[in-house]
Amino acid sequence: MAPLRVGVRRETTPGERRVALVPDGVSRLVAAGLAVLVESDAGARAWQTNDAYAAAGAELVGTDELYERADVLLSVGRPDPERLRSGQAVLGLLQPLTDPAYVSRLAERGVTAVSLDTLPRTLSRAQPMDALSSQASVAGYKAVLLAANAFDRYFPLLITAAGTAKPAEVLVLGAGVAGLQAIGTARRLGAIVRAYDVRPAARGEIESMGAAFVQLSSVGDAAGAGGYARALTEAEQRAQQKELGEHVARHDVVITTAQVPGRRPPLLVTEEAVKAMAAGSVVVDLAASPLGGNVALSEPGRTVVTDNGVTVIGADNAPAAMPTAASAAYSRNICALLLHLIDDGGALAVDPTDEIQAGVVVTHGGRVLKEATA
Ligand code: NAD
Repeated sequence: MAPLRVGVRRETTPGERRVALVPDGVSRLVAAGLAVLVESDAGARAWQTNDAYAAAGAELVGTDELYERADVLLSVGRPDPERLRSGQAVLGLLQPLTDPAYVSRLAERGVTAVSLDTLPRTLSRAQPMDALSSQASVAGYKAVLLAANAFDRYFPLLITAAGTAKPAEVLVLGAGVAGLQAIGTARRLGAIVRAYDVRPAARGEIESMGAAFVQLSSVGDAAGAGGYARALTEAEQRAQQKELGEHVARHDVVITTAQVPGRRPPLLVTEEAVKAMAAGSVVVDLAASPLGGNVALSEPGRTVVTDNGVTVIGADNAPAAMPTAASAAYSRNICALLLHLIDDGGALAVDPTDEIQAGVVVTHGGRVLKEATA
């Protein structure tokens, strides 16, 4: 039997610099008996050269040839369904929960869609496949660097002959994977860090990273299913925004990372709160999106400076701004998932009774699999 042909596409979303598989991943798949086709320049924006892919055992091909010959397409974002054909599989961050129409289109075309963002993350055997975590970790780190770069003072305490610089005070809102990485990074730069999350379990994690936990009196426990937060009621949201506003105004830098699965990000920092910040403060919103983010004034992909001198950075795709590290981690995740989906004969074997597959296989055999998107 001919080996399964795995294709690596060049991402087409504007601003996307990541690639789904790096040359190290090519070697791993080739060693597992698969053939790898790489679209020419697929990794160029993440500094992965065509030569490096070829040396790792990949065949470099043009765009049309890639879509024509690949049995399985590896992707970061969402390929155009019209380019895909029946029987082909695609693995990527397909966001099935926020765009059911895209998923239906893939099903209609007979494509098997496998989405890394619906992985059951708490299963320990799924952890090497957890791309949401690996990318959130890059985002949390990069958010601090973006903030530090836009902040016109020092992060650390500096005592010099020219005077003393007081340390920056950083507030991190949302302490999941990205938030904890942001706390660690800001601490390493010497800032004083405080953090808040609606899940009570986050307190211990925040403190173990060396930050102080901000306790709100107006909002209680909002832990939801699977370690995620639940959406707050409108009354809770208003109370939270009001109480958070007082903390926001006292900080030099605010980094927001809050998400609730399958919903628009919660608004944590109101326009009023940004207006109460001192000139020179910086806000980085990792949740910025076309649907709105955690910060009222943030715009995805843009940096705005308010009339009162606050720089608001809408960092909607921070992992793409650090594409080499993000791609290397994503490549490991997608290899682990792909190898999990392949049977002993080297073929893609869809088995919805497998707990991991039940989470990630979103369409197969012309149908949207309900259990995967539920
Ligand atoms: P996420 O991206 O869904 O959200 C980021 C954070 O925002 C979460 O901590 C959430 O509680 C918080 N949040 C949501 N609404 C909020 C609000 N209104 N105010 C303040 N904070 C709010 O989360 P994530 O980073 O993907 O992680 C979610 C959870 O899953 C965490 O508990 C994490 O430790 C856990 N997790 C576990 C594993 C594993 O077991 N292997 C892997 C990854 C994540």
